[in-house]
Amino acid sequence: MTSRVLAAVAWPYANGPRHIGHVSGFGVPSDIFARYMRMSGHEVLMVSGTDEHGTPILVQAEREGLSPRETADKYNRVIVNDLRDLGLSYDLFTRTTTLNHYAVVQDLFLGLHRNGYVVPRITMGAVSPSTGRTLPDRYIEGTCPICGYPSARGDQCDNCGNQLDPIDLINPVSRINGETPKFVETEHYLLDLPALAGSLGKWLSSRTDWRPNVLKFSQNLLEDLRPRAITRDLDWGVPVPLDGWRDQPMKRLYVWFDAVIGYLSASVEWAKRSGDPDAWKQWWIDPDARGYYFMGKDNIVFHTVIWPGILLGHNGEGDHGGTVGPLGELRLPDEIVSSEYLTMSGSKFSTSRGKVIYVGDFLREFGPDALRYFIAVAGPESTDTDFTWDEFVRRTNFELANEWGNLVNRSISMAHRTNGSIPTPGALLDVDHELLRTSQNAFDTVGALLGRNRFKLAITEAMRVVGAANKYISDTEPWKLKDNPERRDTVLHTALQVVSDANTLLTPFLPHAAQQVHEALGGSGVWAAQPEIREVTEEGGPDYPVIMGDYAGELARWESHPIGSGTPLQQPTPLFAKLDETLGETGPAWAPIER
Ligand SMILES: [Zn+2]
Repeated sequence: MTSRVLAAVAWPYANGPRHIGHVSGFGVPSDIFARYMRMSGHEVLMVSGTDEHGTPILVQAEREGLSPRETADKYNRVIVNDLRDLGLSYDLFTRTTTLNHYAVVQDLFLGLHRNGYVVPRITMGAVSPSTGRTLPDRYIEGTCPICGYPSARGDQCDNCGNQLDPIDLINPVSRINGETPKFVETEHYLLDLPALAGSLGKWLSSRTDWRPNVLKFSQNLLEDLRPRAITRDLDWGVPVPLDGWRDQPMKRLYVWFDAVIGYLSASVEWAKRSGDPDAWKQWWIDPDARGYYFMGKDNIVFHTVIWPGILLGHNGEGDHGGTVGPLGELRLPDEIVSSEYLTMSGSKFSTSRGKVIYVGDFLREFGPDALRYFIAVAGPESTDTDFTWDEFVRRTNFELANEWGNLVNRSISMAHRTNGSIPTPGALLDVDHELLRTSQNAFDTVGALLGRNRFKLAITEAMRVVGAANKYISDTEPWKLKDNPERRDTVLHTALQVVSDANTLLTPFLPHAAQQVHEALGGSGVWAAQPEIREVTEEGGPDYPVIMGDYAGELARWESHPIGSGTPLQQPTPLFAKLDETLGETGPAWAPIER
């Protein structure tokens, strides 16, 4: 059944380059899912972008002596390059500082405001006693009232991760001149989550197919929902679209509110760029579309409670009632795909680089598919997982190179040597039928697992076909069949058919290698499409890079493609280079393991 699938992928924060933990949790898994869905005939819209507002951008900007805009521009470009190099097939990867994003965020705010789900409240804000001016949250520091961390910021404690208000801090001081701020009344807008709790509860109780822990966690949150501030005393963010607020330089929408709307604004931007400005509605309003959201476990609350709450309020479906907002009746998430953490504590790196492995460094040395494979087979899908170089070397050498690379290489090399082309088979024996059945059946097994985002089991099943094919070649020993060319050709044809099948099964995981194998089997054209960076502009705004791609034209389909006897073959080049085993003990030169 063909249907529309929205793959909404968490937005990386643009205050620095991203490390492999960031792409392990949701980047690579969402791309494996999207590629599989396209191959099996769905119309996929995969969107994301960089999250560029809020205090961490401002803090990083100060550190580097840049403006917030320059900082966002710098790291947006780094992240766009890394994600393209990793082969993540976004229909649009954009950013939150576009005029389009501002407009969509403001539309949603106005829809909520008109329906009464955004309410004003007087709170206490900080001003500088010496200048009388508002002190932005980030310029206030003090002791966290929750964990006691001495350098908590006015909006958040970096130690325990809790959101704070400046007035919550114990002994607050201005980071500008050390003076104690004065607190005066200031007005902010809050999202009236308690008025949405009833309809959220009804909606959550209909989510019978969710993981029980995600569902229970979300339902528990409803019991203690409080109004949540969606504006902030801050000069970097989306302006509040109300008279008397719009032009206030120190009032902005809170970064969490604007970032979560990015899924929708990116879909709207994609539609404009694709030439049909209403096309996004096919994924956001049509009832037969399905929305899959990919995120780390720390972000579940935003996707199962707060974002659905915003959508319900905009649709006029809470305790205050209301009318459908300016964007139409928007669909709530269907599936929540959350991952655990990839940690890097097993490898101790020099502190000058930070104790992380950056995506860019990794790809430059090892290429995208080795990392994609590692994440799929050993990533933090359902438990926290520690990355070690030892494990990476072992997986790359013994599984990718020895198992899959070697199967491709030896079967194509043999056929090239004996026939120069794909041999014509004679009558098949039971052993041939059995191997072909194994690979045919895997399309259902692996496909069902990928449709449920069970990546580790899916790639294990796909690699089982590779193992069966290697065993088949060892058992049938085609190199000893010089005197029986018909049997030899049958064995080689069967092996090559299964190489082709396994390549299809592995395409969502290893799209770059899949293109190579497709060509090594004599195929032409684009088998697995890759994303590209396009420099775009919008009216009245600056240029910026986005990731887009022409994925509809790729040849890969989720089925067995019969190979053509007589198709000319070339001597293949190795798919995966084996890694030096000492890498497991030393780490690479740019992230050496400390002894
Ligand atoms: Zn704290």
